Amino acid sequence: MIAAANGIKLIDTEGNEFFDGVSSLWVNIHGHRKAAIDEAIVRQLGQVAHTTMLGLANLPAYELAGQLVGITPAGLNRVFYSDDGSTAVEVALKMAFQYWRHQGKPDKQKFISLEQAYHGDTVGTVSVGGIDLFHRVFKPLLFTPVHIPAPSCYHCRLAADPAECGLKCAAVLEQVLAEQHEEVAGLIIEPLVQAAAGMLMSPPGYLAKVREITRKYDVLLIADEVATGFGRTGTMFACEQEAVAPDLMALSKGITGGYMPLAATLTTDEVYNAFLGDYAAKKTFYHGHSYTGNPLACAAALANLRIFREEKVIEGLGPKIAAIADRLAEMAVLAHVGQVRQCGLIVGIELMLDKSKKVPYSWEQAAGASVCRQARKYGLIIRPIGDVVVFMPPLASTVAEINTMLAIIKRSVTEVTAADWADDGLQPTDL
Ligand SMILES: *Cc1c(COP(=O)(O)O)cnc(C)c1O
Repeated sequence: MIAAANGIKLIDTEGNEFFDGVSSLWVNIHGHRKAAIDEAIVRQLGQVAHTTMLGLANLPAYELAGQLVGITPAGLNRVFYSDDGSTAVEVALKMAFQYWRHQGKPDKQKFISLEQAYHGDTVGTVSVGGIDLFHRVFKPLLFTPVHIPAPSCYHCRLAADPAECGLKCAAVLEQVLAEQHEEVAGLIIEPLVQAAAGMLMSPPGYLAKVREITRKYDVLLIADEVATGFGRTGTMFACEQEAVAPDLMALSKGITGGYMPLAATLTTDEVYNAFLGDYAAKKTFYHGHSYTGNPLACAAALANLRIFREEKVIEGLGPKIAAIADRLAEMAVLAHVGQVRQCGLIVGIELMLDKSKKVPYSWEQAAGASVCRQARKYGLIIRPIGDVVVFMPPLASTVAEINTMLAIIKRSVTEVTAADWADDGLQPTDL
């Protein structure tokens, strides 16, 4: 039970301190109780806490939209607000769908998404998701996307080596679009990292190739940067790393520095203009949430962006990313660490019963959860995805703090997976 926080540490009701090793589920950027964000929210409270964006605008939302346009890839000039990552993606899907109706191409209705994708928990976003454990039960409720292979070097079923994997996966996409592009509205992708799938990294060049192919076949590219946005991958947005400008981009998680629920869907003038017309043309995009463009959240987001600029946050990430890589290299040799994966400050450490034969732990052993429970004893809060131990520290973490947190993870992995743990009858709940 968390009662308070200080910097990158959480404090429970008994006064125990824990490193926030997953940034409060991938949202926190500059640590907790960051004075500039606290003050921005209080200042906005002295003006107005909330007004509707239906037929009105508000100053923080207006100013933030301008700044988001300034920092996102070229061409993303229009901003539509909502409240969380799922709604940001939902908006992108509906916008893409309706866009083609206004273009006189109503047959373009399908979406392409990747195997093992995660785009949120609402019905539309679950439809384009590909994680069986989360999504199977809702199947009768969903629309069906065209799934293409996930280009993760490790899990790709088409190829063993990264470069080959990217090419083969792109070739599958090209084939699908060659046959079906007249029915395809858009392709949605988590650029560079499939996060909820267990931090699966795309091979270099894949994203740029997807952009090239979607452009060739006149299919809208939707970049879901909900997890990767705001510096997580080492650049402000993952798309920058392959010079990709998508047609729509979904942002949330880090947008307020991890303070308040807020999301934005950005798009191009071309998509925006398709919705213009007189009343009788009935081109309105009927989507809006009660708390859309909430002024307190937008004030927090403006303070967040100001800190990025003033503290040169992106410029300072290099040594932190390098420290993570060094510590991970040390961890990769552990007997039960199958693979370590890193993209900027996004890390997945995959546990394996037998790494040489690639034998996973059984589901019942809950190896990932056991490691995370052990880490908590040493003052670190992390969460697993299956047997992938996830480490996603706030960007503000110092190199020393990063080293300490990864030392705790290494110790926890070593202890939990030690000496035939799998065979000694010890239950995960004993750990
Ligand atoms: C977390 C996440 C979402 C959903 O965001 P919520 O704010 O939890 O609704 C969507 N897409 C990606 C890639 C995410 O990581």
